[in-house]
Amino acid sequence: MSDAPSNQRATPGPTLHVLFLECSPADAEFCLQQLKKGGFDVRADLAQNLEEFFERPRSESYDIVLADYPSSNGTRIDALQLLKKEGKDIPIILATSASGEESAVEWVRKGVSDYVLKDQLVRLPVAVRRALEEKSLRQTCQRAEEALRESEERYALVASGAHDGLWDWNLKTNEVYFSSGWKSMLGLEESEAGNSPKEWFHRVHPEDIRGVRAGIAAHLEGRTPHFEGEHRMWHKDGTYRWVLSRGIAIRDAGGTAYRMAGSQTDISDHKLIEEQLLHDVFHDELTGLPNRTLFCNRLEFAIGRTKRPGDYFYAVLFLDVDRFKIVNDSLGHLIGDELLIAVSRRLKECLRPGDTVARFGGDEFAILLDDVHDVNDATRLAERIQKNLTVPFTLHEHEVFATASIGIAMGAVGYEQPQDILRDADLAMYHAKSRGRAGWKRFDRSMRADAVALLRLETDLWRAVERQEFRVYFQPLASLEDGIITGAEALVRWQHPQRDLLLPAEFISVAEGTRLIVAIGEWVLRTACAQAQAWRASGHSLRVTVNFSAHQFGHPDLVGLIRTVLKETGLPASALELEITESVAMKDIELSSGILKELSADGMHVSIDDFGTGSSSLSRLKRFPINSLKIDQSFVRNLAGDVRDAAITTAMITMGHSLKLNVIAEGVETKKQLAFLRSRRCDEMQGYLFSRPVPAAAFTKLLQKARRLSPAH
Ligand code: C2E
Ligand code: MG
Ligand code: MG
Repeated sequence: MSDAPSNQRATPGPTLHVLFLECSPADAEFCLQQLKKGGFDVRADLAQNLEEFFERPRSESYDIVLADYPSSNGTRIDALQLLKKEGKDIPIILATSASGEESAVEWVRKGVSDYVLKDQLVRLPVAVRRALEEKSLRQTCQRAEEALRESEERYALVASGAHDGLWDWNLKTNEVYFSSGWKSMLGLEESEAGNSPKEWFHRVHPEDIRGVRAGIAAHLEGRTPHFEGEHRMWHKDGTYRWVLSRGIAIRDAGGTAYRMAGSQTDISDHKLIEEQLLHDVFHDELTGLPNRTLFCNRLEFAIGRTKRPGDYFYAVLFLDVDRFKIVNDSLGHLIGDELLIAVSRRLKECLRPGDTVARFGGDEFAILLDDVHDVNDATRLAERIQKNLTVPFTLHEHEVFATASIGIAMGAVGYEQPQDILRDADLAMYHAKSRGRAGWKRFDRSMRADAVALLRLETDLWRAVERQEFRVYFQPLASLEDGIITGAEALVRWQHPQRDLLLPAEFISVAEGTRLIVAIGEWVLRTACAQAQAWRASGHSLRVTVNFSAHQFGHPDLVGLIRTVLKETGLPASALELEITESVAMKDIELSSGILKELSADGMHVSIDDFGTGSSSLSRLKRFPINSLKIDQSFVRNLAGDVRDAAITTAMITMGHSLKLNVIAEGVETKKQLAFLRSRRCDEMQGYLFSRPVPAAAFTKLLQKARRLSPAH
């Protein structure tokens, strides 16, 4: 309301905004003088007639209207009604001659604030002040009424709940009436609770009583519009129930509370759900351990403590269960889940009461070691955990072994956010894992540099795919019997814009991690097939072998893709050989054997790469349509010096032949190795002794010079 601030002007000093209605300028001037003398700082406007009077209060806010009386009949009523209709509470004071005094009194009865006789205008400031004070009082009362209505409504609402208990407290006699609902809620018989407030307060949970008393006092002292609070009440059955207590005081004219009444509602069920929800938000469903959110809360607290003076240290351990996926895949998710539960129990056994172990999801756990002396506390714990895990888990009838890799980061001043120290502990865990499983590693700054380098490599790799920075090199495969080039293995290289030509060892695993290998692999396949077809067209019939990694078997239509590439390049299926390692074949036996069978039916060849390094057996490999075995170069390397490697190689050649497979030796570097392999009737070889992998043009020259390789090459 535009006149809202006016009630603040009841005391002399602030500007009084006056609207004169139908006063002569001389009278108005005189009134102003009186008001100024009375201590008012006055600002005034003149409304000559009722139309003007209608408009003025709409655009301006006035504190008071001074109207000349009597003037034209009816004007004063209209003015009064108008203000009421507009919802404006502006006091009107009439300035009247003695002859009009009688009817002026009548107007005051009808709602005009006051009148002043024209020959006593010196009284005007007093009348104005009184009118303003009355207005202020009126507004206060209005507000109080509204508040009362509101709380009465609320009270009615509260009391209407069928299950509520009611209480009514006579503050003068200090007696409380407790309804039967109130009593039965606490398991009491009608006769059991007396009428003393103690019946209430001594049943309130000791931890909650202060809050209840404070809430009631705040309301009785008028600081809160009503009393409301949740607290626990003792039940006769010996348990505590959660209740919601609400109440409102009834006050005398002086504002002193003499009675207070309210209700009590049993909210135990809500509380239970609320507590469950709260628990769920902060805990892992499977193991019941704190989750990442709760862990980070506690970690944040620990970080905060390091900033305060004192010798406070903490440590974060990041733990990942080794080979968990294998358990999950081979024994099923149910056993996998049970293993996680069992591991979480073992972890808890290793900790002190103040420490936190949380599950971050999957097979990842984090531990917050509170208040440690030095790093030895953390490393000792890591060793204790690993020792504890060496005892096998019995899950149903299975005996399961689990180890874990652990990364340790020491909390020191300098960590600002939980994720900073978690990132470092995680990095350390990866280092531990990459050095072999069941180990622990403490974080040091060089690890961060490694991580940055890896990130850069990943970014560069994405760009390399877009910019086609890859090259395919070819390495000849030759018959051991006559040295004739029988094939070419396609090997990818990366022409990095700032670095030398990069070998697969530097980027293949990253490409596999980001699944970029799928795009790279497709490009290698297409390039290799096109090149092989070009050689065939110029009269050199040879097969091309292409390496495939596990992720490529996840391609939704690998068979379709290979068929399309063959069709586009014109290369017959029989001229393409797929190289996969044992682990790729074994990863998802159903999937890979299905794909390979289809491709084999088309006439394509399959060879098992790096044979002898995996853990598969030939009997399992029999499920695949295999044409060749490539004996891994680690066996070939020591053929001359190591009797065992020589024996294994011989056995592999014999086994391969008994299964009617073509046996290829990789990494042939010396004439001695060559002689040995020949003596054991190995079929083909590949190695630096004859040629390193070379670009297509150089390979073409090899073919043109002599289809037959000799060590001179
Ligand atoms: P691989 O398939 O076993 O390839 C043979 C590796 O041995 C090649 O290394 C080759 O240069 C090397 N090599 C050949 N003869 C000798 C020798 O006499 N002595 C020594 N010391 N090494 C020899 P490269 O080209 O560095 O490739 C390494 C691995 O990267 C390959 O092993 C293969 O697993 C993978 N790879 C290469 N190209 C691709 C590709 O296009 N796709 C996929 N998925 N993997 C690829
Ligand atoms: Mg290979
Ligand atoms: Mg190999």
